[in-house]
Amino acid sequence: MLVRPSLAVENTVPAAKDDRTADPIRRRLMFDITAMAGAGVVLGAGLAPRRVAAATAKLAKTEIGYQVSPKGGQRCDLCLNWQPPGSCKLVAGPIVASGWCGLFQLKR
Ligand code: SF4
Repeated sequence: MLVRPSLAVENTVPAAKDDRTADPIRRRLMFDITAMAGAGVVLGAGLAPRRVAAATAKLAKTEIGYQVSPKGGQRCDLCLNWQPPGSCKLVAGPIVASGWCGLFQLKR
């Protein structure tokens, strides 16, 4: 029986070294990017409740000239911001149906 020498050549090239973390500059850069991303998440989470609070804060009656009587044909129960039975989306405190303020917007 004839035995042929193997034609296969052993891979003499060493496996590529994974130097993604071996390079100190690259490692530092990756650390900084990760740290900045983490800080952004923490900062965003910290600010979110304040934004929500600011967006949901109502105005004081004195700021917008609220009065308990209508102005012409304009009254709170005809306003887009009216919330029965006695509040408003924009103005703090109890609001009477016959009231009015400078933010009046007629319901459509
Ligand atoms: S008139 Fe002013 S207080 Fe009255 S419901 Fe409209 S926005 Fe609110």
